[in-house]
Amino acid sequence: DEKILQVSELHKYFSMSKGKVLQAVNNVTFHVNKGETFGLVGESGCGKSTTGRTIMGLYEKTSGDVIYDGQNVHEMDEKERFKFYRNMQMIFQDPYASLNPRSTVKEVIAEPMEVHGIFKNKSEQLDRVYELLEEVGLNRDHANRYPHEFSGGQRQRIGIARALALNPDFLIADEPISALDVSVQAQVVNLLKKLQEEKGLTFLFIAHDLSMVKQISNRIGVMYLGNMVELTASEALYEKPLHPYTQALLSAIPIPDPDIEDSRERVILEGELPSPINPPSGCVFRTRCPMAMEVCSAKVPEWREVEQDHYVACHLYDESLKGHEKNSRVGA
Ligand code: SF4
Ligand code: MG
Repeated sequence: DEKILQVSELHKYFSMSKGKVLQAVNNVTFHVNKGETFGLVGESGCGKSTTGRTIMGLYEKTSGDVIYDGQNVHEMDEKERFKFYRNMQMIFQDPYASLNPRSTVKEVIAEPMEVHGIFKNKSEQLDRVYELLEEVGLNRDHANRYPHEFSGGQRQRIGIARALALNPDFLIADEPISALDVSVQAQVVNLLKKLQEEKGLTFLFIAHDLSMVKQISNRIGVMYLGNMVELTASEALYEKPLHPYTQALLSAIPIPDPDIEDSRERVILEGELPSPINPPSGCVFRTRCPMAMEVCSAKVPEWREVEQDHYVACHLYDESLKGHEKNSRVGA
């Protein structure tokens, strides 16, 4: 596998009023292979969108590195950054909000090509707009209409056409189907899969729903309160989730086949999601973790590879703690 994106120990903190600091992204490390879909999943507010935006350089990083195709995204000059956006584009959750309501579909899709001066002549550009419309399952009759005339699913297709206008290699899709009806979600996922195959695209697919990410991802990273807590291949994550948070997320997904007896134990997470302004000491998940031990409040769990290509941040998998601290369950 060829790595196309490497994110290393990425931190993104925001300064708030009264000297407070919001730790939106805290020490996140992962890579994305060329041509794959990497799913980034977690509850809203866990830092997955901020991670996506920081990767694109839309936010300055606080520390760490984002290397795309050998280039450090946060050390690019303006010209390099401009060129970089031909390779990496973003699809947003609410395409209506990201599309200018006073622009026609044609203008919306052509805009990136104009900004980047792709075509010298307008009719070539229009041909490309028509081609893009067809690639996303729309047609040239849609070109002169306005985005608000379309359904949510169609608007997302327009957003995808616009994101594809510069022929990028990498797309960050931030909750691209979360606002759509369930029936439409599958259509958009299928479109993204088709485009990926045809164009060899790489996706960073952000979602809050693990069942959504499963259908499309090769590998998945699970985030909680700004931290990556588990990362592995899609099947491995579903078959053998290691982190108590992933286990809880998965136990909430019903098994679709009614003939299969669902004997899994439901893990109900108690307590509120803590604030990223004042995250718990030690393991950020400890206030809601059914397995929490004394060590969990004292020590930040290391990010370790416990099986091949299966990473987890949890003291339960720290061999050096075997025996003693593990026996002292908090509240047990
Ligand atoms: Fe739970 Fe402790 Fe593991 Fe955190 S480190 S997930 S609190 S067992
Ligand atoms: Mg978000």
